[in-house]
Order: sequence, then structure tokens, then C-alpha cells
Amino acid sequence: MKSAAFDYVRPRSVAEACDLLAENADAKVVAGGQSLGPMLNLRLAQPPLLIDITRIAELGRIAETDGAVTIGATVTHAAIEDQKIGAPANGFLARVASGIAYRAVRTRGTIGGSLVHADPAADWVSSLTALGAEILVVGPGGTPRRVSVADFVRGAMDVAIEHDEIVTGVHVPRLSATARCGYHKICRKTGEFAEAIGVAVFDPDRGLCRVVAGAGGGRPVVIDGARGTDRLLATFDDPRSGRECLDEAGVTGDDYQMQIHVAAVQRAVQELRGR
Ligand SMILES: Cc1cc2nc3c(=O)[nH]c(=O)nc-3n(C[C@H](O)[C@H](O)[C@H](O)COP(=O)(O)OP(=O)(O)OC[C@H]3O[C@@H](n4cnc5c(N)ncnc54)[C@H](O)[C@@H]3O)c2cc1C
Repeated sequence: MKSAAFDYVRPRSVAEACDLLAENADAKVVAGGQSLGPMLNLRLAQPPLLIDITRIAELGRIAETDGAVTIGATVTHAAIEDQKIGAPANGFLARVASGIAYRAVRTRGTIGGSLVHADPAADWVSSLTALGAEILVVGPGGTPRRVSVADFVRGAMDVAIEHDEIVTGVHVPRLSATARCGYHKICRKTGEFAEAIGVAVFDPDRGLCRVVAGAGGGRPVVIDGARGTDRLLATFDDPRSGRECLDEAGVTGDDYQMQIHVAAVQRAVQELRGR
């Protein structure tokens, strides 16, 4: 199928894009088009106007400080895979990016588009929740607001953004040099959306030990361990205690789904430990 006819504009600034959204109630932003494109072609979305934000220079920028890296919303998965954003999480973001779809999708798809689309099985939704990243959102007033990825993603394809707002970037706090991370996604074929995602982060210098179970159909489930210890990780040495832990944290599913959620987290923990 082909998409319904639409008008198309390419604003040059965030303010212009927000004004266009405010003036056109049914307009849609398009970035890489890797999620919106199929929806247009299937006519699941029929916006009269597409606002292409990929020529807005400020959305493609990367800003580094000692404590964080801010990745512009239109930075592609491929650019992150190629480490063009530096390594705020010791190479972890490049590792996650390399597992998203196929290189062709990664060269178009953007970090901002992925987060706004908020497919529960998407890689950035779980991995950036685990890192405690924040999303920068700007509306017609021009004053940016910051919201944690954990609060931004309210559920499956449901995010905390108004129609006339745009995601301008993602603020990723730097992990310390001693931090270690693990990531594992279970999917039928390489490059596909996940059936289960496990993320493990241990940063002793920052007192952070966190496990995330993603791709469960809603928002990712976050489990924080006691500050300064990695005892939480040992819970996943045994599948039974791992399952109890995920049950208590609110991960739901039938027996098969619970098994793959436990396995995904277990393998993330094993990767963190370098096994
Ligand atoms: C074959 C295939 C396989 C895939 N596999 C995976 C996978 O394994 N893992 C994974 O995580 N993803 C996967 N994806 C999705 C891919 O990562 C997309 O890039 C991503 O989901 C959307 O990014 P985009 O830039 O293409 O957004 P678009 O498709 O352009 O937009 C998506 C949505 O976000 C809105 N939007 C985009 N940018 C902004 C912004 N800055 N501010 C406000 N709203 C915005 C749009 O209006 C739209 O509603 C796959 C896609 C395809 C086609």
C-alpha cells in the first residue's frame, strides 16, 4: 500500500517546528521515518502534514561535559554505533546501537524517534532507562523541560509529550571508569525487535547497581539494588531467585515469557561480569 497524500515541510529551527505543530492539530513530526513510514504506508497514520526535523542543525548536535553527554534527537543509531557521540557509558551505547535492526535501518532511525515511538521492545527504551538518562523536550514557549526516560515512557507507545512539543535531545549521565554494563536481547532473528531485554549496570563509584527487564509489553521494569553493593546481581545466578525478583518487581507473563525475561537479565549480568 502507499501512504495517503500529505503536505511536507522542512523547518530550520525547533521554534519553527513547534509553531507548525501548534498551528496544525493533525500534523506529525518525521525523523528517520523507520517507524512512521510503515505506519503511513499501512494507512495506520494519515497526517495531512509531515514536519521533517532532520534539517534542524541543533537536533543533530552532541554536547559533552564532564558529567554527561547530550545526544541530539536526530542523531542516528548508526552514528552511536560508530562512537561519534563519545563513550559516556564506556562503549555500552555503541554496543546497544549495533543490535538495533539492520545497518540500513540504523543509518536512518534516530534516538529521539525511537524514544517517542516507544515500542516496548525497542532497545533505547530499556537501555536508557537503565542508565538514568533524561529526555529534553521543547514546546512553543521555547523553554526546555527535562524528564527521565523512566517517566517519559508511560506505557506501550505512550509517552509524556504534548502535540506541539519536540524531543530535542537525550541527556546521558557519564558512568565512572570502573562501571560495567551488560545487555542481552532475546529475539528470533538477529536484528529483530526483542521478546525480552535484560540490562545490568554496576557503577561502584556512583553506588549504582540496577537491573532492567524490558520488552514486556509496557514500560521497562527497573530494579535497584542496595546502594554500594552488587548483591542484586547474584540474585540472577539462580533462575528461581531471579524469577522471584522479577515477579516482585512487577514483571508479568506466562511461564515461557517469565523464563525468557529471567534468561535475558541473567545473560546481561553474565556479560557485565565478563563471562
Ligand atoms: C525493519 C525494522 C526493524 C527494526 N528493528 C528494531 C530493533 O531491533 N530495535 C529497535 O529499537 N528499533 C527497531 N526498529 C525501529 C527503528 O529503530 C526506528 O528508527 C525507531 O523506532 C524510530 O526512529 P525514527 O527516527 O525512524 O522515527 P520516525 O519513524 O520518523 O518517528 C517515529 C515517531 O516519533 C515521532 N518523532 C520522531 N522524532 C521526534 C522528535 N524529535 N520529537 C517528537 N516526536 C518525534 C514521530 O512523529 C513518530 O510518531 C526497526 C525498524 C524497522 C523498519
